[in-house]
Amino acid sequence: MGLPDYHTHTGRCGHGEGSATEYVVAAQQAGLSALGVSDHLPVLHTQDPDLSMGLDQLQGYIDEVLELKRRYPGYVLLGIEADYRPDTIEQVKGLLAAHPFDYVIGSVHFIGDWGFDDPREADHFESRGVDDAYRSYYEAVREAVACGAFTILGHLDLVKKFGYRTSLHLDETIDKLGREIAHQGMIVEVNTAGLHKPVGELYPSAEILARLRRCGVSITFGSDAHAPAHVGRDFERAVEAARSAGYTHYARLDQQSPGQRVRPRAVPLRTDPRRKGPAACMSA
Ligand SMILES: [Zn+2]
Ligand SMILES: [Zn+2]
Repeated sequence: MGLPDYHTHTGRCGHGEGSATEYVVAAQQAGLSALGVSDHLPVLHTQDPDLSMGLDQLQGYIDEVLELKRRYPGYVLLGIEADYRPDTIEQVKGLLAAHPFDYVIGSVHFIGDWGFDDPREADHFESRGVDDAYRSYYEAVREAVACGAFTILGHLDLVKKFGYRTSLHLDETIDKLGREIAHQGMIVEVNTAGLHKPVGELYPSAEILARLRRCGVSITFGSDAHAPAHVGRDFERAVEAARSAGYTHYARLDQQSPGQRVRPRAVPLRTDPRRKGPAACMSA
């Protein structure tokens, strides 16, 4: 039994490629045990077709993934990646409640109006100051956790994406955040996309992952693929990092009745995240 990939994007978001159907085929070829399609919910504070689908495309996305759920029962989930911003969160909550998403990845991509993970705006780290960016980022993440709208916390330390490192000591901040995540029953994804960004690391880092484990936070896996060929990419590295942090289990998302969010279930971590080849089951 391979791992699931709960973080994938399609061509609809304007900076990815492939259809949801192509993702399902790729996921099955890669030996993954489940696929969550989680394209970007329309970004509400600005109109930018390079960031997300528009509101007029949302129903088409949902219908396409629901059709795949019917064709691949128990394999495909309808997810969505929603931005946390203080000024749009109520509107986001309304959209989430109005549609039958199985789960929601909550992500912080903006500090104010600054899309800090957008390569077009990366030079703002210099002008704004790296420490200030980190401080503001973690404050937004704390609010995202507290708002209670999300199932999974997306790419937890994304602010490091371009390799800018803070001089702040964030251990206490992370521990406090970890306790809040555990209290909310949220799951943190081990997101492999950072390995292919300037920072060259998983999100979150090994240090943060170990702290989350001590706080009792559950984890799951996401590639953040923006092309079908990248589904499940580097999951061996993600499993290795999870085990090094002391994790023996990850959360699998089980479908509930339509319209209800998934129920997470703890599943033992294996050394081989794909079904192909021998998958030695490690004892906890
Ligand atoms: Zn994201
Ligand atoms: Zn994403």
